[in-house]
Amino acid sequence: MARFIFITGGVVSSLGKGLASAALGTLLQARGFTVRLRKLDPYLNVDPGTMSPFEHGEVFVTDDGAETDLDLGHYERFTGVSARRADSVSSGRIYSNVLEKERRGEYLGKTIQVIPHVTDEIKRWISTDENESDFMLCEIGGTVGDIEGLPFFEAIRQFAQDRPSEQCIFMHLTLLPFLSASGELKTKPTQHSVKELRMIGLQPDILVCRSETKIPEKERAKIALFCNVRPDAVIPAYDLKSIYEAPMAYHEAGLDQAVLDAFRINPAPKPNLDRWIDIEDRIHNAEGEVRVAIVGKYTLLEDAYKSIAEALTHGGMANRVRVNSDWIDAEIFEREDPVPYLEPYQAILVPGGFGERGTEGKIKAAEFARTHKVPYLGICLGMQMAVIEAARNLAGMKDAGSEEFDSGTGEKSITPVVYHLKEWIRGNEKIERSVTDDKGGTMRLGAYRATLAKGTRVAGIYGSASIDERHRHRYEVNVRYRDALEGLGLRFSGNSPDGRLPEIVEWTDHPWFIGVQFHPELKSRPFAPHPLFADFVRAAKEMSRLV
Ligand code: GLN
Repeated sequence: MARFIFITGGVVSSLGKGLASAALGTLLQARGFTVRLRKLDPYLNVDPGTMSPFEHGEVFVTDDGAETDLDLGHYERFTGVSARRADSVSSGRIYSNVLEKERRGEYLGKTIQVIPHVTDEIKRWISTDENESDFMLCEIGGTVGDIEGLPFFEAIRQFAQDRPSEQCIFMHLTLLPFLSASGELKTKPTQHSVKELRMIGLQPDILVCRSETKIPEKERAKIALFCNVRPDAVIPAYDLKSIYEAPMAYHEAGLDQAVLDAFRINPAPKPNLDRWIDIEDRIHNAEGEVRVAIVGKYTLLEDAYKSIAEALTHGGMANRVRVNSDWIDAEIFEREDPVPYLEPYQAILVPGGFGERGTEGKIKAAEFARTHKVPYLGICLGMQMAVIEAARNLAGMKDAGSEEFDSGTGEKSITPVVYHLKEWIRGNEKIERSVTDDKGGTMRLGAYRATLAKGTRVAGIYGSASIDERHRHRYEVNVRYRDALEGLGLRFSGNSPDGRLPEIVEWTDHPWFIGVQFHPELKSRPFAPHPLFADFVRAAKEMSRLV
């Protein structure tokens, strides 16, 4: 029987609920428990797949091919538990399930209402596979009081009511603003936020209070009294230099102990925090730094490439160096010479992306990395652009391009070095995609196997002949051009088991140039840096020694 921890937020958004949930997850693991984390998002999109990265940050893809909230990335990075489709749900998905059932007549002619039909669907979602772990942590997106969030709050209230009394607890994150004029921390917004919760029938067991300055004991006692929470369950949360300090900081603030107390788990198993002590040591005692240029499109919003930034940090930890990355807008290289921009860097990363804007600049970045022998990691679109660069500049295919930008029917007809594949095999299953599918349906999503060719750089890096990595794209490098490009030294070193889908390319006469069709960043963890990122940063470190 799993125990449930419901995590809500109040006062303002962006308090770091996802991070607090992920940190609590790993602290419970450190005490020997198994955990799962879930995100329930009040917005009406069915999933974040069609949302712009500007709106919502990165879309995090699970092994089973769900396009989910980026908080699931935090959960995975902190706990190492691979998320699944059932771990992320939005109001849009809940309502769409309810409406589908209604159309199928499953409600037997009843009037469909938020309570009980929508709340039942939410409760069903929360309890999916509940017996697989000791703790299920469910984070509710948004803040208490949001109109869209109400059915979720009502559902978790009912859920706790349906269960034995010690199976569910509620943890609420708030903010204590500091008024510099009076030199005081203010507890009133927290009191109001808890009042809002109690009005809808929820009494928090634990309060996590974000604050820029130290919370005096007196204020802590006041919060406990006014919010009806035990004083040792008022947990201070201060700003940190690195998110990877959060588990130790929350442990020292007493969060995991307060949670075990709330569940009356006594005696509490002792925690083993060696993993996080080692990670903190690597963050604080880096022995140098490398500079990486990330040439992309959504450069203004860091969250758009959240997992890439984190995977680079992990690669730095693996090599005991700090990775300083700068985001460079690819479009600049369509007007200006990339050399002065890229010369200061020891490595170049071209991330994934959609649409034509900036792609010519990414091709320029790939050309610079190839000709200047600078380590290059091309991810998804970054691999496709590297292949187009080789086809245009070395194989004499001047009009090499991707069908994503030109279907061959427009004015400029292209040589489709990257093309739209209509069907492929996954395990025993044949998958077909057509242009009429809805937006999400046309993509190759989730984990796919790749076979690595013996003796290649990637086979050495992975130390394995077969890998599983996560995908999110519509277009593929066209295997028809494989022989021509391999003849020039661009080795197709990883391919789908049937050989039809190129998964990895690498330049053989280059210190480190690898393009991958998948997203390795999604599987990197601080305690298990992804081998490609670890080796990419190692190559960058080599470069910094050369100069
Ligand atoms: N736009 C490209 C495609 O759909 C690449 C996608 C990506 O980089 N994730 O194939």
